Amino acid sequence: MLVIVIEVVLASGSMAKRSSRREKARRPRARPAFPIEHALAKLRELTRTLRVPVVTLAAQVSEDPWEVLAACILSLRTKDSTTAEAARRLFARARTPEATLGLPESELATLIYPVGFYRTKARVLHGLARAIRDEHQGRVPDDLDALLELKGVGRKTANLVLTQAFGKPGICVDTHVHRITNRWGYVRTRSPDETEQALRKKLPARWWIQINQILVAFGQGVCGPISPRCSECPIEASCEKIGVKHQR
Ligand code: SF4
Repeated sequence: MLVIVIEVVLASGSMAKRSSRREKARRPRARPAFPIEHALAKLRELTRTLRVPVVTLAAQVSEDPWEVLAACILSLRTKDSTTAEAARRLFARARTPEATLGLPESELATLIYPVGFYRTKARVLHGLARAIRDEHQGRVPDDLDALLELKGVGRKTANLVLTQAFGKPGICVDTHVHRITNRWGYVRTRSPDETEQALRKKLPARWWIQINQILVAFGQGVCGPISPRCSECPIEASCEKIGVKHQR
């Protein structure tokens, strides 16, 4: 009798072990954390050799805070090459808030045409120039909250001004940064603003300013919105390719 009881106990013990082994085998293996340092270092190396049409807006404008701000307003919903041309025409006539206010709104609109929504942007530029002259002693503020209070300035613009013009920490998240970091599975967000918040929590500080320039070039040259060139990608092994339906 005692022998039978012992056998039953032993048998149930080994059954439990077997089923826990099966359970473990069925459980999906957790992916290792995305190797962000390795990926950005690799992509920085790659983008130095990529021949992309325009690297970033930041690379095209000077470090003058007003020029960075105005060029960023022009760039919204506009191709980089069109923005660069419009910014060149505008700054040839007016490089400061005061000089911008000296131009009639209609002339401003003509100068920046054909950027998207050029009439609205002419109005926004006038409004910004006036607010900076009247409320900030003619100087673009170097503080995120103060920048966001200016009418027409969103988070992308404010971060670009902070990083490019003032060398202050900020993460400029545009469509490339948002798309690519989500494809990696490094963040899981629905909008560029959410991506910026997520990156502020986990991206090592030394990449904050650089990430925009690296991923804009990488997004233009390799990881495009439609059919990315995954076969040429140096970090393919680490990428979850979330949302990628077609690839080359
Ligand atoms: S593997 Fe493809 S989707 Fe992932 S980062 Fe590289 S190019 Fe983009």
